[in-house]
Amino acid sequence: MERELRLLSVVVPAYCEEEGIGRTVAAIVRVLEGCRIPFELVVVDDGSPDGTFERIRSLARRDRRIRALRLCRRFGKEAALWAGLEAARGDAVVTMDADLQHPPSLLPAMVAAWRAGAWVVHGVRESPRVGGFWGWRLRRLFHRLLSRLGGIELEDASDFKLLDRRVVEVLVRRMPERGRFYRGLVAWTGYPAVKLAFAVGERESGGSRWRSAWLVELAISGMVSLTTLPLRIVTVLGLATLLLSAVLAVETLWSWSTGDTVSGFTTIVLTLLIIGSSIMISLGIIGEYIGRIYEEVKRRPPYLVEQEVNMSKEALPGPPRMTTPVQDAGANRAPTRERARRAG
Ligand code: UDP
Ligand code: MG
Repeated sequence: MERELRLLSVVVPAYCEEEGIGRTVAAIVRVLEGCRIPFELVVVDDGSPDGTFERIRSLARRDRRIRALRLCRRFGKEAALWAGLEAARGDAVVTMDADLQHPPSLLPAMVAAWRAGAWVVHGVRESPRVGGFWGWRLRRLFHRLLSRLGGIELEDASDFKLLDRRVVEVLVRRMPERGRFYRGLVAWTGYPAVKLAFAVGERESGGSRWRSAWLVELAISGMVSLTTLPLRIVTVLGLATLLLSAVLAVETLWSWSTGDTVSGFTTIVLTLLIIGSSIMISLGIIGEYIGRIYEEVKRRPPYLVEQEVNMSKEALPGPPRMTTPVQDAGANRAPTRERARRAG
């Protein structure tokens, strides 16, 4: 039996998308109105220093289905996604990028898959070769590695997904961890999923909002959040070194007994270097996990909200209104009264 969709939420994280956000919102609204899907759009401004929030606010004033959050600084895409998932009220929630690289034209197919019973609909890249010569190769390698290590299916994964309300509840209520890796966590839940291929377009305006250092951070987060296998590898490495030294000891004893002179300054230096570096790498890996444990036990809120538009409970989505709604509650709130949405 087909499920009834009372409300679809579309969550869009945006950082410095002043130029493109209007076009993205218009495209999403056009597609969903075209298929008569009741929806709300939750745009989360990740503390952009440019006029992104002004744009979103002026859109939200004209259309109550557009709801907006502004985080007080750049907390990162993962946190922005979480803020959106927590604010979303739909029976199904779609997460997509603000740069039209995730085509809104896929939305009807995603909803159809949900109606047919899927809990999760993954948007997967049709051609993985997007993002420069090294970009896509590294991404593929990383996804393969994580799929192997974490025992989950991540290949060609993207953050363009539709989640059933039940999955969203699990993510926001029962996975309260701080170091988040959205695609990994969704794959980890293992709910019945469907894959839909989409062609990644070129970015509509500007370049990627990621810096290489952030991507490395995300990659490490993803790894640490999904598997503790690296710790096991460290142990195995230690055992292997122990074995190696045993072999060397036997060999040395043998040469001593046969009267060979002790030789091999280079061997000693190399052995020292290898052992030294493997100890340091091991400490680094263990340190990554301890660092994450430290982050988790601090239990800080993953993001803080500075302003909100159309977020009050009464502001239920209805037909677009051309007048300025009164529900623009948080819009003019002074920054000193910033409110932690999830403090504690
Ligand atoms: N984004 C964000 N915070 C960040 C970086 C990115 O909210 O710190 C948003 C960005 O506005 C976009 C999405 O995340 O909507 C994906 O970013 P981008 O297109 O730069 O990433 P790429 O397509 O290169 O993976
Ligand atoms: Mg992009």
